[in-house]
Amino acid sequence: MTLYCKRNKPIYPFEEWQLSENEYNEENNILSETLFTLGNGYIGLRGSFEEGFSGPDGNTNESSYINGFYESEPFTYGENKYGYAENNQRMLQVPNGKVIELFVGDEKFSLTSGKIIEYKRSLDFESALLRRDITWQSPAGKSVKLSVNRLVSFAEKHLFAIHYEVMSLNFSGKIIMKSAIEVNFKTQTGPDDPRLGSSESSNTLITLENNVNGEFGLFHHRTRNSDLHLVSAMDNSIEADCQYEQYSEQQERRVECKYIIDAKQGEAIKLTKYVVYYSSRDFSKSSLIKHAKTTLTKAKQQSFQELLSSQKKIMEQFWYKSDVIIRGDPPLQQAIRFNLFHLFQSVGRDGKTSIAAKGLTGDGYNGHYFWDAEIYVLPFFCYTEPEIARKLLEFRYSILDKARQRARMLSHNKGATFPWRTIGGEECSAYYPAGSAQYHLNADIVCAIKTYIEATDDMDLLCDLGAEIIFETARIWVDLGEYIAKKGHMFCINEVSGPDEYTTLVNNNFYTNVMAKMHLLYAWDTVKLLSQKYPKVYDQLKTKIGLDDEEPEQWRCAAENMYLPYDDELGIYPQDDSFLYKAIWNFKNTPHNKYPLMLHYHPMIIYRYQICKQADVLLALLLLGDQFPQEEIKKNFDYYEPITTHDSTLSPSIHSIVANEIGYHQLAYDY
Ligand code: BGC
Repeated sequence: MTLYCKRNKPIYPFEEWQLSENEYNEENNILSETLFTLGNGYIGLRGSFEEGFSGPDGNTNESSYINGFYESEPFTYGENKYGYAENNQRMLQVPNGKVIELFVGDEKFSLTSGKIIEYKRSLDFESALLRRDITWQSPAGKSVKLSVNRLVSFAEKHLFAIHYEVMSLNFSGKIIMKSAIEVNFKTQTGPDDPRLGSSESSNTLITLENNVNGEFGLFHHRTRNSDLHLVSAMDNSIEADCQYEQYSEQQERRVECKYIIDAKQGEAIKLTKYVVYYSSRDFSKSSLIKHAKTTLTKAKQQSFQELLSSQKKIMEQFWYKSDVIIRGDPPLQQAIRFNLFHLFQSVGRDGKTSIAAKGLTGDGYNGHYFWDAEIYVLPFFCYTEPEIARKLLEFRYSILDKARQRARMLSHNKGATFPWRTIGGEECSAYYPAGSAQYHLNADIVCAIKTYIEATDDMDLLCDLGAEIIFETARIWVDLGEYIAKKGHMFCINEVSGPDEYTTLVNNNFYTNVMAKMHLLYAWDTVKLLSQKYPKVYDQLKTKIGLDDEEPEQWRCAAENMYLPYDDELGIYPQDDSFLYKAIWNFKNTPHNKYPLMLHYHPMIIYRYQICKQADVLLALLLLGDQFPQEEIKKNFDYYEPITTHDSTLSPSIHSIVANEIGYHQLAYDY
């Protein structure tokens, strides 16, 4: 994550325990807002300023999010076909509770007017605190010193707090602070990029109630289609050794608590703002306001410092279990801690949510959960915070019924197919070749269960929900695949897509087949384990899902006869049956500005060539590394690496690990 500005100087200095910015950088503001995001797996707040952004339009996205709070909207297809996903789901922007506006006399504080004398913003990984220190001189020459601290509580998932301190340096007189919740959603516009999403909420959040009373204010909203309710509420408390008056103001899109302060030179004014979000995904609609008030009352009894010390305790535990120490390389040390921190603060941990492809940092991919959660994120938690890993698996179980319904839609009479992308459980992929066709997701989830069980020995999970997922998803493979005579009666899986989205709808994708094999054998092993050690559980599960005695045998047989494409001449695993029969993409004549390819070429053009968006065969060789000799992995790496564009951010990490394992250390480091 080393980011450089034009002068080739790192934008964010290399510091081992923090990410910071030592000068106000308007141009990079939208990027900084993403990187300075704070969250707790439930609330996600982009790192935008409390006072708002006065730079150019398009350089800011002040959004706040609630994991799993979404709107659902019908897809409109020009040519609809049977079984296409019907509705999209979008993670929404929720009302902005970060707002604290500052007026020095009658002049509004803004980083684009007056003079910035000192500026520092930092994200402290150790305490999960976002801090801003600014000395600013207004156009009329009044100077103030600001120190703003923000935290999103890990101890109380519904709460975040801001401690906003302002001190006048060269005058005594009026200072105004306006603390608000705003429903002023801005639409993000951007190029036609499938990775972008929109959390625009104006047309979808219907106000049911808004009110403000003294230092307290709230909004109660309902989503138009998904009928989810959300209460966003704030309370404020001020500490100032001077006279002040407090007013409240209510508008259609804003509830505000205003302080007019008779400030004294050199005396700090301290405002603490507490904000909570409660949604009907957790509590009954009618009880949301009550819950919000109770939590705010409790929070207000604690000072910001107290909230911060419980935050620090939780972070201490996290770092104790999860830190990765790299000596002698500050940029790498910073990058790895930054990433660990973001994983921890982005991941859903309530069994009803998972981790979105962009965490809670932005609208990208509409806040959808993909296989990224199970293959890229869950293993980390298995070994560091197994309770979180368990919650991610509980989330999958919570949508198993919807996966069963989806399987019926895809003509499977039994079993379950998990959606390629979703929030609430329904398939939200409108482009099936690089969506629903990625059947490997079922095996990815089972791979995650297997990793979790191996790491924790949590037999309760296996008995309570793991086995049911494993069996229901295993059923799909035997229904999907066939023993094909021309392939020596081997078990083949046709017309699916593997992880590489630059090659779709193929026969015998190596990754899919080898992962399905792992899945089926694990299902078979689980049958043996349960029937021997937990016969009652096994019998109940058999009855519940109507499992026939022959089915496990069919799983074993399909696994043992699984066709895995292999090319003797090259000594590699072809990505699928047709991959090696295509020409290699003309890399030499592809200028840099044509990457990522998906933004410049029709998919069909890309599909015609040997070219990979991301690790596919190599990922399988990594996940199932113990089954393949190093020499073989090396040959495959040598073949696939030069034809991979890494147009997916899921790609470089895998290449780095594999490169390292086969001894390409410099390359591993570069990746
Ligand atoms: C990748 C997928 C991934 C998705 C979300 C796409 O660009 O090709 O493999 O699941 O992004 O991260």
